[in-house]
Parts: sequence; structure tokens; C-alpha cells
Amino acid sequence: MTSSPLALHGGTPAVLMPEPHFTWPPITDATRKAVTDQLDRTVSIYNRSGVVAELEDALAAYFGVRHALLTSSGTAALYSMYAAAGIGPGMEVIVPAYTFFATVTPLLHLGATPVLAECDERGNLDPADIAARITHRTRAIAVTHMWGTPAQIAQIRELADKHGLKLFEDGSHAHGATVSGRKVGSFGDAAAFSMNGPKPLSAGEGGFLLTDDSDLYHRALLHGQYNKRCRDEIPASYPLHRYAITGMGLKHRIHPLAAAVGLDQLGNLDTYLAGRDRTAAYLCERLREIPGVEPIVPAEGDHSSWYGLILRYRSEQIGGFPLDRYFAALQAEGASEADRPGSTCPLNLLPLFQEPGPLFPSLSRRFAYAPGQFPRAEAFHDSIIKLPVWHREDDQETANAYVEAFRKVSAHHTDLITTGVQHG
Ligand SMILES: *Cc1c(COP(=O)(O)O)cnc(C)c1O
Repeated sequence: MTSSPLALHGGTPAVLMPEPHFTWPPITDATRKAVTDQLDRTVSIYNRSGVVAELEDALAAYFGVRHALLTSSGTAALYSMYAAAGIGPGMEVIVPAYTFFATVTPLLHLGATPVLAECDERGNLDPADIAARITHRTRAIAVTHMWGTPAQIAQIRELADKHGLKLFEDGSHAHGATVSGRKVGSFGDAAAFSMNGPKPLSAGEGGFLLTDDSDLYHRALLHGQYNKRCRDEIPASYPLHRYAITGMGLKHRIHPLAAAVGLDQLGNLDTYLAGRDRTAAYLCERLREIPGVEPIVPAEGDHSSWYGLILRYRSEQIGGFPLDRYFAALQAEGASEADRPGSTCPLNLLPLFQEPGPLFPSLSRRFAYAPGQFPRAEAFHDSIIKLPVWHREDDQETANAYVEAFRKVSAHHTDLITTGVQHG
């Protein structure tokens, strides 16, 4: 294959399998049965019962926390989490510059100011960039475990404790990822997770909040689960019990059919993660030998959920060759699931964080981020290629073909310089 020309130059592509090369979540007969059984039971659940209670119990047990609360989305879980923790107008929350924007957008609805901070070499919030951003208005730190790789959460927990700040985790990429054997999502005062389509634990749509703090849990119920759940679960002795009927009037309940999918998926999560671990170890070993790309692996003792395998592009290893053209050649090789994440980008590059005023008038003079302010996060974003991590042995051939695509493009990059990209 070494001598086969690049597909971009008319050669045979390295990846010849029919698309799609990766689908998620895995839907089995058990998933189908879980959904049809739920259809026959009920499609509306108003209190903590049935599949909602079952999944919440299973999540609390899986993560080792006291309370799990299902929501309609990860965004809703984040919103309820911040609201329940008392985040409000004028407060500052230190957040990663590099995260999916929904980690932060709920803070805007609460009138809080997001204070962006830089990333470390794995793309996660850098503990070393937090202290200098703490002011008398800072109330909390929020951390995302990007692409499934745990952040330096123990160090950040220490910092939060030292400064009397709350710590929140966004585990939406990282269900089942661990730090020294302990699951991410159990380090913060509370954590929020998405169960949206491609996430490691998927319900199609949905999310959940985790916390050991019963007061926070009750307030989260008031935020987005009014009436029955609040009346049943908030003790009558609790001062806010009298608001149980209306709560705060928002409704973030999960759909029972989504909960049924989530419960089915959770039963297989550790098997899926073990399969991903095998594939990731193999891919990293093979890709590490290829000049131009460097796999990002978790710190010693940590385990990723491998939501994505992130390759840092190292143009200096292949003569300064630009990523745009490398990526185009890779796609021509048929590696259609190789991705350069677009909307998951440093938040200072998004109009909402540069000029919030037209959508959030009360925040108009509070912050105005600009490109160039987070050089490490921006360089990270500009230099990564993301691969899916297959969990089935059956996908080994596809994984091999993807490695071959990288090997070919790196080996032939000088062809791209000398002959240029041929069109037509
Ligand atoms: C997907 C995601 C969210 C939002 O979750 P939804 O379920 O889509 O609302 C938040 N944060 C991160 C890091 C995510 O990946």
C-alpha cells in the first residue's frame, strides 16, 4: 500500500467500507423491547416512579452519589444545577474557554458572568490558570471533561475548597471515565451530564444531574420538576416545600421513552467502555508511530470514556504541512468519520460571548470576549482531528483502514506539496 497514490491523486482510498463507519447508540432487540414495553406501560410520568425512578437509582448507584435527577437534556441539567446551587446575577463562574457552549449558556440565563480560563495540554481547564481569575465576585468553578478525558479534577477540587468556591462538573463527554478509580461526576458539589444522541451514555435526548447535597437536589426539583415530584420528595419540614406546586415554573422532565432507552444503555455502558478502551489502546499505539499526529491520552491512573480520540496535529513533524490540506487528503481516503470539531470551539470565538447584549441585555456591559484572548485553547482547537472509538471487535477492520488512511497521507505529504491538489 505504501506505493499506492493518494486518493486525492486518483489512488484507491484506504477506507472502502460502506458508510456510515460509526453509529451511536447501539440499538439492540433489548432496546426495542424496552421502548415497546414502556409504550404499553405509560408515556407520561409525573412523580419519581417507574422507569424514571429505576434509571435514577441505577445512575446514583453507578456514580456512587446520593441523588440523581433526570432531565430533558444536558443543557436543562446544567441550568437546574447552577440555579439550584444559587448562582445568580452579578456572580462570576470560572469556566473553560474550551468547552461545548452549553456548559456555560445556562449561566447567562441566571445573569451570572462567565469568566473564561485556559486549557491544559489535554484540552481541559488548566488549574494553573484559575487562581489569577478569582475575584470577590467568584462563586464557582465549572469543569468539562473534554472528549471523555478526565480534567485535573482533584487539583481543581483543592483550589475550589481553598477559595471557598463551589465546583461543578459537566460530564457530558465522560460517562464512566475515572480518576484514580473514582468516576468523574462525583468530585463536584454537583455534576450534569447529557444523554444526547452521540454521548457515551445515550437516551437519544435527555440528561441528568448528580449531587450528594439534598438541599441542592430539592432546589433542582423546584427549578424544573414542579408539582408532583416536589410535593412527594421535598420534606414538608423544608422551608421551600410551600412552593412545591409551582416550583420555579420551568419544566425539564425527561420523556419516559428516552428514560427507557437510557436504562437499556446504562446496562451495557461498562461493556461498551471496555470495548472502546481496547480500540483506543490499539489506535493510539498505531497512530503514535505516524508522523504528523499525536494521540492525546489520559494522565497516568485516569481512564477516558473515549467520546472521541483526539489527535493533535503536529505539522512540524511533516515539514510544516498545513492541517487543512492534510485533512482534505484524509477525507479523500474515505475517513469520513475523522472530524475537525467546529461548533465545539473556544467560547471567545462565538458571537454570543463577544457581544451578548442583543440576546441578553442585562449582560451587555458585563463581558466582551474577543479572538486571540485564549491562545492555548485556540491553538488546541485549530490543531485537532477527532476519531470515533469503536467498541465492537467487528469494527477492527474499519479502525485498521482509518490508521492506513493516516499512514498514507503522512507518508505522501510531500506529494501534496510538489504536485498540489488535483481537481476534477
Ligand atoms: C452535549 C453537551 C451538552 C448539552 O447537552 P444536551 O443534552 O445536548 O442539551 C453540554 N455540555 C457538553 C460538554 C456537551 O457535550
